[in-house]
Amino acid sequence: MANTPFPSRRAPAYADVPDEQWNNWRWQLSNRINTVEEFERVIPLTESERKALSAAKLFRVDITPYFISLINPDDPQDPIRLQVVPTDTEMVPFTSMMEDSLAEDRHSPVPGLVHRYPDRVLMLVTTQCATYCRYCTRSRIVGDPTATFSRSEFEMQLEYLKNTPQVRDVLLSGGDPLVLAPKILEEILRRLREIPHIEIVRIGSRVPVFLPMRVTDELCDMLQKYHPLWMNIHVNHPNEITAELAQACDKLTRAGIPLGNQAVLLKGVNDNVHLQRQLVQDLVRIRVRPYYLYQCDLVEGAGHFRTPVAKGIEILEGLRGHTSGFAVPMFIVDAPGGGGKIPLMPNYLLTMSDHKLVLRNYEGYITTYEEPTDYTPRDAAAWTGRRPEPGQTGLTGLLDGDQMVIKPEGFDQLHDRGGMQHRLKDERKWVPLGIGEGESTPGNDG
Ligand SMILES: *Cc1c(COP(=O)(O)O)cnc(C)c1O
Repeated sequence: MANTPFPSRRAPAYADVPDEQWNNWRWQLSNRINTVEEFERVIPLTESERKALSAAKLFRVDITPYFISLINPDDPQDPIRLQVVPTDTEMVPFTSMMEDSLAEDRHSPVPGLVHRYPDRVLMLVTTQCATYCRYCTRSRIVGDPTATFSRSEFEMQLEYLKNTPQVRDVLLSGGDPLVLAPKILEEILRRLREIPHIEIVRIGSRVPVFLPMRVTDELCDMLQKYHPLWMNIHVNHPNEITAELAQACDKLTRAGIPLGNQAVLLKGVNDNVHLQRQLVQDLVRIRVRPYYLYQCDLVEGAGHFRTPVAKGIEILEGLRGHTSGFAVPMFIVDAPGGGGKIPLMPNYLLTMSDHKLVLRNYEGYITTYEEPTDYTPRDAAAWTGRRPEPGQTGLTGLLDGDQMVIKPEGFDQLHDRGGMQHRLKDERKWVPLGIGEGESTPGNDG
């Protein structure tokens, strides 16, 4: 792109590669770097990196010539280098480390589908990526070509989706869906589109970042046949925003695909508020809306990337109000054990009474907000449209009055204290009078 403010780089080792090859995604994929000898021709390795590369049980290494060219070879702490070049710290275990920290495999009705939320599923379509992130949350399966999903598993995934009408949103991930052979990717999209209750399809991909030349006009023409299609990319540091990425994002947005960014908060890479502000501002310049900033998962091999959770709160404190609202991502802790995504942010509500809030803004200005004294909501029964399925409504169910309490497992048995059923234990006493029946009887207060 001629007039982009973002740079375009090529490591000296690739100076003689003809542009036609350099800009060909197949050439980039087949010339990926993964051995000590190949690395040494582009960046001199540290002792720790050399040790890691010769280790037996290392998570897969592969870096496209395009992406490795963004590394400053003289800086062992280069933020791109830390993300993709292994070091021997990867082999260090830490407390709470898990193979599958999000318990995805437990929420998987068929291989490759993770159905955790009521209305959407994560669909893993490949285990392959263009380049492998050292902190990969799915390193238990990613990178292993023998762990990839078979044709019969794909048919089982589709069968589950066809039989599960509450799923309206399918998120394609992996691995990276955009490294699939174009015909296979198109078949997946086409088959999903045949299922009437699937309203939107999303793709999670780091291909625009690792291999922007993959985003060809042909790919965009194919993708836009399957709208509404959304895409999240994965940029962690402003150095990843190049003329090539800008062009790939321009093609995708012109094809009508809204772009978001999911970043991971990584020690030594992007754990700084000013850097994050630059990142989100650069992202919106290339029309990518920051979506999530993730706390690093408790996954094997990623211990040396972890920051305190407070770092994420500090970063959001430095973004909200200080820059465009739509440039501020949500900070997310993906709950270990499979609780899903939990947003965290600084507190803006200082205190409250029955009719007044005390709030602070990003500058520390403290104000009050007087609440209405005559509020009656729109009649809830007037909504005749879609409502959530019972069973996974959580706190919303408590507020709606479908349910009065949520109990920990074994609660009733524990509090029964091994006692007997007796006359004062009538079950009906614990059914709230009037809850869930709108305006009827007031509650029983004793
Ligand atoms: C992240 C994730 C989703 C999508 O979550 P959104 O908050 O809707 O972006 C869906 N399913 C699983 C299992 C996920 O981990």
